[in-house]
Amino acid sequence: MDFGIAGRKAIVGGASAGLGKACALSLAREGVELTIVARTKANIEAAAREISTITGVRVTPVAADINSDEGRAATLKACPAPDIIVNNSGGPPTGNFRDWDRATWLEALHNNMLGAIFMIKETVDGMIERKFGRIVNITSSAVKAPISILGLSNSARAGLTGFVAGTSREVARHNVTINNILPGDFNTERHQANTQTMAKLQNRSYEEMKTIRMAAVAAGRFGEPAELGDLCAYLCSVQAGFITGQNLLIDGGKYPGTF
Ligand code: NAP
Repeated sequence: MDFGIAGRKAIVGGASAGLGKACALSLAREGVELTIVARTKANIEAAAREISTITGVRVTPVAADINSDEGRAATLKACPAPDIIVNNSGGPPTGNFRDWDRATWLEALHNNMLGAIFMIKETVDGMIERKFGRIVNITSSAVKAPISILGLSNSARAGLTGFVAGTSREVARHNVTINNILPGDFNTERHQANTQTMAKLQNRSYEEMKTIRMAAVAAGRFGEPAELGDLCAYLCSVQAGFITGQNLLIDGGKYPGTF
Protein backbone atom coordinates (compact mmCIF):
# COMPACT_ATOMS: atom_id res chain seq x y z
CA MET A 1 0.00 0.00 0.00
CA ASP A 2 1.26 3.48 -0.84
CA PHE A 3 0.66 5.64 2.24
CA GLY A 4 0.49 8.83 0.14
CA ILE A 5 2.99 10.77 2.28
CA ALA A 6 6.12 10.80 0.08
CA GLY A 7 7.65 14.28 0.21
CA ARG A 8 5.94 15.18 3.49
CA LYS A 9 8.13 16.52 6.31
CA ALA A 10 8.34 14.85 9.70
CA ILE A 11 9.95 15.53 13.06
CA VAL A 12 10.71 12.41 15.08
CA GLY A 13 11.90 12.72 18.68
CA GLY A 14 14.15 10.27 20.51
CA ALA A 15 15.19 8.83 17.18
CA SER A 16 18.77 7.62 17.61
CA ALA A 17 17.63 4.28 19.09
CA GLY A 18 14.69 2.08 19.95
CA LEU A 19 11.10 2.96 19.06
CA GLY A 20 11.79 6.49 17.80
CA LYS A 21 14.43 5.29 15.37
CA ALA A 22 12.06 2.58 14.14
CA CYS A 23 9.32 5.19 13.52
CA ALA A 24 11.82 7.35 11.63
CA LEU A 25 12.91 4.45 9.43
CA SER A 26 9.34 3.39 8.62
CA LEU A 27 8.43 6.98 7.65
CA ALA A 28 11.59 7.30 5.55
CA ARG A 29 10.64 4.09 3.71
CA GLU A 30 7.44 5.96 2.71
CA GLY A 31 9.54 8.78 1.27
CA VAL A 32 9.03 11.21 4.17
CA GLU A 33 11.80 13.80 4.71
CA LEU A 34 12.98 13.63 8.28
CA THR A 35 14.30 15.83 11.05
CA ILE A 36 15.35 13.47 13.81
CA VAL A 37 16.30 14.44 17.36
CA ALA A 38 18.25 12.96 20.28
CA ARG A 39 20.61 14.45 22.85
CA THR A 40 23.78 12.56 21.96
CA LYS A 41 25.24 14.19 18.84
CA ALA A 42 27.31 11.24 17.56
CA ASN A 43 24.36 8.85 17.90
CA ILE A 44 21.76 11.01 16.16
CA GLU A 45 24.20 11.78 13.34
CA ALA A 46 24.93 8.07 12.91
CA ALA A 47 21.19 7.29 12.85
CA ALA A 48 20.61 9.99 10.22
CA ARG A 49 23.37 8.55 8.00
CA GLU A 50 22.02 5.01 8.42
CA ILE A 51 18.39 5.90 7.61
CA SER A 52 19.43 8.04 4.67
CA THR A 53 21.65 5.27 3.27
CA ILE A 54 18.89 2.66 3.57
CA THR A 55 16.07 4.79 2.13
CA GLY A 56 17.68 7.56 0.09
CA VAL A 57 15.59 10.27 1.78
CA ARG A 58 16.97 13.46 3.29
CA VAL A 59 17.46 13.11 7.05
CA THR A 60 18.52 16.11 9.17
CA PRO A 61 19.90 15.27 12.63
CA VAL A 62 19.39 17.66 15.54
CA ALA A 63 21.32 17.06 18.77
CA ALA A 64 19.02 18.48 21.46
CA ASP A 65 16.73 17.73 24.36
CA ILE A 66 13.40 17.70 22.52
CA ASN A 67 11.49 18.48 25.73
CA SER A 68 13.35 21.72 26.45
CA ASP A 69 12.30 25.08 24.98
CA GLU A 70 15.75 25.45 23.36
CA GLY A 71 15.67 21.92 21.93
CA ARG A 72 12.20 22.42 20.49
CA ALA A 73 13.28 25.75 18.97
CA ALA A 74 16.37 24.15 17.37
CA THR A 75 14.21 21.36 15.97
CA LEU A 76 11.61 23.73 14.53
CA LYS A 77 14.37 25.85 13.04
CA ALA A 78 15.53 22.76 11.11
CA CYS A 79 11.94 21.88 10.14
CA PRO A 80 9.70 24.96 10.42
CA ALA A 81 6.58 23.51 8.77
CA PRO A 82 6.24 19.83 9.71
CA ASP A 83 3.36 17.75 8.34
CA ILE A 84 4.04 14.89 10.76
CA ILE A 85 5.24 14.87 14.37
CA VAL A 86 6.23 11.80 16.34
CA ASN A 87 6.49 12.89 19.98
CA ASN A 88 8.90 10.51 21.68
CA SER A 89 11.80 10.65 24.13
CA GLY A 90 13.06 8.67 27.10
CA GLY A 91 10.82 7.38 29.84
CA PRO A 92 11.06 8.44 33.49
CA PRO A 93 13.06 6.46 36.06
CA THR A 94 11.57 3.48 37.85
CA GLY A 95 11.08 3.61 41.62
CA ASN A 96 8.71 3.88 44.55
CA PHE A 97 6.35 6.86 44.91
CA ARG A 98 7.44 7.28 48.55
CA ASP A 99 10.86 8.39 47.33
CA TRP A 100 9.70 10.96 44.74
CA ASP A 101 9.77 14.63 45.73
CA ARG A 102 8.19 17.57 43.89
CA ALA A 103 11.23 18.09 41.66
CA THR A 104 11.09 14.45 40.50
CA TRP A 105 7.41 14.76 39.67
CA LEU A 106 7.90 18.05 37.80
CA GLU A 107 10.73 16.49 35.77
CA ALA A 108 8.48 13.57 34.75
CA LEU A 109 5.65 15.94 33.77
CA HIS A 110 8.12 18.07 31.82
CA ASN A 111 9.51 15.09 29.88
CA ASN A 112 6.49 12.85 29.38
CA MET A 113 3.59 15.27 29.17
CA LEU A 114 4.50 18.94 28.61
CA GLY A 115 7.18 18.34 25.95
CA ALA A 116 4.62 16.76 23.61
CA ILE A 117 1.94 19.32 24.50
CA PHE A 118 4.20 22.28 23.66
CA MET A 119 5.33 20.65 20.41
CA ILE A 120 1.67 20.19 19.42
CA LYS A 121 0.89 23.78 20.45
CA GLU A 122 3.64 25.14 18.21
CA THR A 123 2.91 23.04 15.11
CA VAL A 124 -0.79 22.28 14.96
CA ASP A 125 -2.00 25.64 13.62
CA GLY A 126 0.38 25.36 10.63
CA MET A 127 -1.02 21.89 9.94
CA ILE A 128 -4.56 23.27 10.12
CA GLU A 129 -3.68 26.00 7.61
CA ARG A 130 -2.09 23.45 5.24
CA LYS A 131 -5.05 21.07 5.71
CA PHE A 132 -2.87 18.09 6.56
CA GLY A 133 -1.32 16.97 9.82
CA ARG A 134 -0.50 13.72 11.57
CA ILE A 135 0.66 13.70 15.19
CA VAL A 136 1.58 10.47 16.95
CA ASN A 137 2.63 10.39 20.60
CA ILE A 138 4.51 7.34 21.85
CA THR A 139 3.12 6.82 25.36
CA SER A 140 2.93 3.44 27.08
CA SER A 141 0.70 0.45 27.81
CA ALA A 142 1.02 1.80 31.38
CA VAL A 143 -1.74 4.29 30.46
CA LYS A 144 -4.16 1.34 30.25
CA ALA A 145 -2.59 -1.02 32.77
CA PRO A 146 -0.32 0.77 35.27
CA ILE A 147 3.12 -0.68 36.00
CA SER A 148 3.90 -0.32 39.73
CA ILE A 149 7.57 0.71 39.45
CA LEU A 150 6.68 3.21 36.71
CA GLY A 151 4.31 5.46 38.68
CA LEU A 152 5.88 8.57 37.13
CA SER A 153 5.14 7.22 33.66
CA ASN A 154 1.61 6.04 34.55
CA SER A 155 0.74 9.53 35.75
CA ALA A 156 2.46 11.89 33.33
CA ARG A 157 1.33 9.95 30.28
CA ALA A 158 -2.26 9.83 31.53
CA GLY A 159 -2.12 13.64 31.56
CA LEU A 160 -0.95 13.75 27.93
CA THR A 161 -3.68 11.25 27.03
CA GLY A 162 -6.35 13.56 28.47
CA PHE A 163 -4.96 16.52 26.52
CA VAL A 164 -5.00 14.52 23.26
CA ALA A 165 -8.55 13.27 23.86
CA GLY A 166 -9.82 16.86 23.88
CA THR A 167 -7.50 18.53 21.39
CA SER A 168 -7.76 15.85 18.68
CA ARG A 169 -11.50 16.57 18.39
CA GLU A 170 -10.84 20.29 17.98
CA VAL A 171 -8.56 19.86 14.97
CA ALA A 172 -10.03 16.79 13.22
CA ARG A 173 -12.14 18.74 10.72
CA HIS A 174 -8.94 20.21 9.25
CA ASN A 175 -7.51 16.78 8.35
CA VAL A 176 -5.19 16.92 11.35
CA THR A 177 -5.17 13.76 13.47
CA ILE A 178 -3.61 13.13 16.88
CA ASN A 179 -3.23 9.60 18.19
CA ASN A 180 -1.24 7.81 20.86
CA ILE A 181 0.61 4.53 20.42
CA LEU A 182 0.83 2.50 23.64
CA PRO A 183 3.79 0.10 23.45
CA GLY A 184 3.86 -3.02 25.58
CA ASP A 185 7.18 -4.86 25.82
CA PHE A 186 9.56 -3.96 22.99
CA ASN A 187 13.09 -5.14 22.63
CA THR A 188 14.99 -1.85 23.20
CA GLU A 189 17.79 -0.60 25.45
CA ARG A 190 15.29 0.97 27.84
CA HIS A 191 13.33 -2.26 28.11
CA GLN A 192 16.50 -4.19 28.86
CA ALA A 193 17.42 -1.68 31.58
CA ASN A 194 13.95 -2.01 33.14
CA THR A 195 14.26 -5.81 33.10
CA GLN A 196 17.59 -5.44 34.89
CA THR A 197 15.98 -3.25 37.58
CA MET A 198 13.12 -5.72 38.07
CA ALA A 199 15.60 -8.61 38.29
CA LYS A 200 17.50 -6.85 41.07
CA LEU A 201 14.30 -6.00 42.98
CA GLN A 202 13.15 -9.63 42.81
CA ASN A 203 16.57 -11.12 43.43
CA ARG A 204 16.61 -12.93 40.10
CA SER A 205 19.04 -13.16 37.21
CA TYR A 206 18.46 -10.99 34.13
CA GLU A 207 17.71 -14.05 31.97
CA GLU A 208 15.22 -15.41 34.51
CA MET A 209 13.44 -12.04 34.63
CA LYS A 210 13.38 -11.80 30.85
CA THR A 211 11.76 -15.25 30.60
CA ILE A 212 9.11 -14.25 33.16
CA ARG A 213 8.34 -11.01 31.30
CA MET A 214 8.08 -12.82 27.97
CA ALA A 215 5.76 -15.43 29.42
CA ALA A 216 3.37 -12.62 30.42
CA VAL A 217 2.94 -11.64 26.76
CA ALA A 218 0.23 -13.66 24.96
CA ALA A 219 2.38 -13.71 21.82
CA GLY A 220 5.19 -15.31 23.87
CA ARG A 221 7.80 -12.77 22.77
CA PHE A 222 8.76 -9.11 22.96
CA GLY A 223 7.85 -6.79 20.11
CA GLU A 224 10.38 -5.70 17.52
CA PRO A 225 10.69 -1.90 17.18
CA ALA A 226 10.02 -2.17 13.41
CA GLU A 227 6.53 -3.51 14.16
CA LEU A 228 5.73 -0.33 16.06
CA GLY A 229 7.47 1.84 13.46
CA ASP A 230 5.19 0.51 10.73
CA LEU A 231 2.08 1.15 12.84
CA CYS A 232 3.30 4.71 13.33
CA ALA A 233 3.81 5.19 9.57
CA TYR A 234 0.30 3.89 8.93
CA LEU A 235 -1.18 6.36 11.44
CA CYS A 236 0.63 9.11 9.51
CA SER A 237 -0.76 7.93 6.18
CA VAL A 238 -3.44 9.54 4.04
CA GLN A 239 -5.57 6.42 4.58
CA ALA A 240 -5.56 6.88 8.37
CA GLY A 241 -7.24 10.31 8.14
CA PHE A 242 -10.41 9.01 9.85
CA ILE A 243 -8.55 7.68 12.91
CA THR A 244 -8.09 10.30 15.62
CA GLY A 245 -8.05 10.66 19.39
CA GLN A 246 -7.26 6.96 19.74
CA ASN A 247 -4.97 5.02 22.06
CA LEU A 248 -3.57 2.11 20.08
CA LEU A 249 -2.17 -0.65 22.23
CA ILE A 250 0.56 -2.73 20.57
CA ASP A 251 1.53 -5.36 23.11
CA GLY A 252 1.27 -8.88 21.66
CA GLY A 253 -1.98 -9.43 23.59
CA LYS A 254 -0.51 -8.82 27.05
CA TYR A 255 -3.38 -6.58 28.20
CA PRO A 256 -6.12 -9.08 29.08
CA GLY A 257 -9.23 -6.89 28.74
CA THR A 258 -12.01 -7.30 26.15
CA PHE A 259 -11.68 -3.60 25.22
P1 NAP B 1 15.43 3.89 24.33
O1 NAP B 1 15.80 2.62 23.70
O2 NAP B 1 16.05 4.26 25.64
O3 NAP B 1 15.66 5.09 23.29
C1 NAP B 1 15.36 6.40 23.67
C2 NAP B 1 15.75 7.36 22.56
O4 NAP B 1 15.29 8.66 22.91
C3 NAP B 1 17.24 7.50 22.35
O5 NAP B 1 17.44 7.84 21.00
C4 NAP B 1 17.60 8.68 23.25
O6 NAP B 1 18.84 9.25 22.84
C5 NAP B 1 16.41 9.57 22.98
N1 NAP B 1 16.06 10.53 24.03
C6 NAP B 1 15.86 10.31 25.34
N2 NAP B 1 15.53 11.44 25.97
C7 NAP B 1 15.53 12.42 25.03
C8 NAP B 1 15.24 13.81 25.05
N3 NAP B 1 14.92 14.44 26.18
N4 NAP B 1 15.32 14.50 23.90
C9 NAP B 1 15.65 13.89 22.74
N5 NAP B 1 15.91 12.58 22.66
C10 NAP B 1 15.83 11.86 23.79
O7 NAP B 1 13.85 3.94 24.64
P2 NAP B 1 12.64 3.17 23.91
O8 NAP B 1 12.51 1.83 24.52
O9 NAP B 1 12.73 3.32 22.45
O10 NAP B 1 11.40 3.99 24.47
C11 NAP B 1 10.90 5.15 23.83
C12 NAP B 1 9.71 5.63 24.63
O11 NAP B 1 8.70 4.61 24.66
C13 NAP B 1 10.06 5.95 26.09
O12 NAP B 1 9.32 7.06 26.52
C14 NAP B 1 9.60 4.69 26.81
O13 NAP B 1 9.29 4.93 28.16
C15 NAP B 1 8.37 4.32 26.00
N6 NAP B 1 8.03 2.91 26.15
C16 NAP B 1 8.88 1.94 25.75
C17 NAP B 1 8.54 0.61 25.92
C18 NAP B 1 9.45 -0.53 25.48
O14 NAP B 1 9.12 -1.69 25.67
N7 NAP B 1 10.60 -0.25 24.90
C19 NAP B 1 7.31 0.27 26.51
C20 NAP B 1 6.45 1.29 26.90
C21 NAP B 1 6.83 2.61 26.73
P3 NAP B 1 19.67 10.25 23.81
O15 NAP B 1 19.73 9.56 25.14
O16 NAP B 1 20.97 10.44 23.14
O17 NAP B 1 18.87 11.54 23.89
